[in-house]
Amino acid sequence: MTELLDVRSRDARLDSIFNAALHEVTRRKDTPQVQACFYPYAGLSSTIRLRNGRVFARVSDVLIQSPPEVLHSLACILVAKLYRVKAPSEHEKVYHEYATSTPVLHATERTRRKRGYKIITSALGRTYNLEEAFSSLNKQYFGGELDRPVLSWSQGKTRRVLGHHDHVHGTITISRTLDSPKVPRFVTEYVLYHEMLHIKHPPKMVRGRTIYHSREFRSDERLYEQFDDALKYLERIASPVRRERRPRRSRS
Ligand SMILES: [Zn+2]
Repeated sequence: MTELLDVRSRDARLDSIFNAALHEVTRRKDTPQVQACFYPYAGLSSTIRLRNGRVFARVSDVLIQSPPEVLHSLACILVAKLYRVKAPSEHEKVYHEYATSTPVLHATERTRRKRGYKIITSALGRTYNLEEAFSSLNKQYFGGELDRPVLSWSQGKTRRVLGHHDHVHGTITISRTLDSPKVPRFVTEYVLYHEMLHIKHPPKMVRGRTIYHSREFRSDERLYEQFDDALKYLERIASPVRRERRPRRSRS
């Protein structure tokens, strides 16, 4: 799917995609009429509403060239939202993986910029894409079971704190220092892996103290394929400050 298709000619196709989604999600034979189109939103937003017994859907035109299965998944997600039911997780996965892939994030950023919107912090760095790194680490080390947090690069470069997982907000922030072609991928991914382990091993209270890096945490950490090399590299760039030199009680 690389050819540019005329917006209007795609509308009929989009209608039938939404029709199919309505049948799939509501499991009804008689579903409302649909009118769907691509729409020049600022980013990757899409909307759906029900008015006078008809369904109106607008899909971000950033997705105009996306594969049919991605549009189908998005349609199911939107329809589920409209009917206040849970969208099948498979659809969430298909859509999310596509929407956060490097080319799509780039396209979204380009349209945002063109349409005059300021880019807020995102998972897409200059060198590495945290969403993609998360997906592959999740698959390789967590059986794909880890819940996806909000991933972002830190605003500024910080050498002292290279990664941070916030349990309250469900976010992982990685230092921009690691978003550079000079830093090997396995190093950046190791820091993300460490923060992901904080999701798997939530902090626990032991005799009035909060333990962030339990024994189980530390042994999982060593499962990382290039654990020793990553640590060596990090000690060098973070030196003389240790990678996680923070007050005992702070989150890490
Ligand atoms: Zn930690």
